[in-house]
Amino acid sequence: MLDKIAITRLIRDYLMKEAGMDLVGFCPASALSEEPEGYRPNDILKCAKSVIVFGRRLLNGAVQAQMRRLEDGDKARYAESIYSTYGLELVPNWTMGLSTFYLADYVENMLGRTPQPLGCGPEMGTLPKNTPTPMFTGPNKDGLCMNIAHAAIAAGIAQPSWSNFPVTKEFGPRIQFGCLLTDLELVYTEPDDGPRLCNPETCHVCSDKCPMHALPAKDSGEKTQWRIAGRSYEVSKHDVNACYVATLGLREEFAGIQKRGNLVSTMTPKHEDIVEAMKNFSISNSNLDHFPKCFCNACQIYCPLGNWDKIFGER
Ligand code: SF4
Ligand code: SF4
Repeated sequence: MLDKIAITRLIRDYLMKEAGMDLVGFCPASALSEEPEGYRPNDILKCAKSVIVFGRRLLNGAVQAQMRRLEDGDKARYAESIYSTYGLELVPNWTMGLSTFYLADYVENMLGRTPQPLGCGPEMGTLPKNTPTPMFTGPNKDGLCMNIAHAAIAAGIAQPSWSNFPVTKEFGPRIQFGCLLTDLELVYTEPDDGPRLCNPETCHVCSDKCPMHALPAKDSGEKTQWRIAGRSYEVSKHDVNACYVATLGLREEFAGIQKRGNLVSTMTPKHEDIVEAMKNFSISNSNLDHFPKCFCNACQIYCPLGNWDKIFGER
């Protein structure tokens, strides 16, 4: 009979060596007890004791492609398919989905315990809808069942940031996380209580780069609190509806190759404006995700954390 130290090591080794993850952490299900009702680990898996969180960095080349598209516009319009395929939607989400599935299979068949693999990205949602957990792989309202970004913070492999993305010292916000709930008892990694990586008093890159002013600057006073693992974190009051306009290309200036018209007319849309716009949104027939969400993420792409200068500065 393996003890929890050995099982934790087995799972970590599997994720790091076999599944190619860059970061792995573990927290108790109770660390997320302050999430909204219906989105807590035990709402999804009654017997959940532990949350396993794992992250794979985004490919620098895919990030690079999105920079070209954001900076060069139509001249680099086909770069959108690179970022969509390798950076945000197709490959990262399917790969993460498969890794999560195989980990669940391992926990169920080899360890004889109960796993609950969580959906982990835009490909896992279908129609956009409003939920209290809009942020995961991007600021989209995808109906995700749990806030995996918060789980990554609870498990100590990421910190909160002003832009609402979970950030890491290794990769900044340019990382995707997957998650599995289980009734296994594991050895937990503590939240990172060290100095905050993100200091919005001195850095305003995400607020400055946001084309929809969806991330108010720190001195605006527009902020919100996250409660995770008994701690409080201050982050910007992200305007999800405004963000949605850019990420989904609901106006021509944001849309990529396939223009859909100006479906939203205001810079401060309400939920009803987004619902109305989506009624007139022509779905993509050239993308597995019929609602491509790859048209912005400037806040993630340009955040200086994670050695941005060294990797992208002289591109
Ligand atoms: S994804 Fe774009 S629109 Fe949304 S918050 Fe980030 S920079 Fe702003
Ligand atoms: S761009 Fe700057 S303020 Fe925004 S999340 Fe990154 S470090 Fe924080």
